[in-house]
Amino acid sequence: MKSFLAIIVFVALCLQTAQAFPIHFNNKQQTTKHQQQKTMCFSSKGDDSSEEKDFEVQTWNPLRLAVLKLGMTEPAWTSSFNYQKKKGVFSCAYCGNELFDSESKYDSGSGWPSFWRSKQEGAIGYKMEFGNRLECRCNKCGGHLGHVFLDGPKQTDVPSSLLQTSPASDPRSQRENGRLPRFCVNGASLRLKEEVQEQ
Ligand SMILES: [Zn+2]
Repeated sequence: MKSFLAIIVFVALCLQTAQAFPIHFNNKQQTTKHQQQKTMCFSSKGDDSSEEKDFEVQTWNPLRLAVLKLGMTEPAWTSSFNYQKKKGVFSCAYCGNELFDSESKYDSGSGWPSFWRSKQEGAIGYKMEFGNRLECRCNKCGGHLGHVFLDGPKQTDVPSSLLQTSPASDPRSQRENGRLPRFCVNGASLRLKEEVQEQ
């Protein structure tokens, strides 16, 4: 009788294991399928438009990566953004996050492209460095952009209509009528999407 019961228990265990195994196997298959889908999604990137391919090529510019990912500073007066006055939006060269516009660009004489206002609320993140220097980073990908100083133009030097569009997240001087911030940015961390001029 005991051996009969032992056989029943053994068979029951076998059946349970047999049931459990296919479930486990199916899960494995699902994972593999999921991985395949992920791989397919990844490889389908190769079919992207030429505009996105251009973006990738520009992203792998060594100077861009040194600035954005290693926090290095490009030599002063080397960025073409210092000199040109094209209209448009300046976005992060790594992830495309819109950071500044040409309306807030000004000549600070520092040797680096400078802006007195960011493009949109929360686009830029800040971190106080050793020595009380305020670093600014792209808030989407964390890429290093440059530094912010509170010695930008006077509030009376910029059009009041633009001043009102200044995001509340921009660093501000505590003094009333103090100077606006100076976003001192590495040109290598930016890409300019030019405004289409109507003719
Ligand atoms: Zn970014």
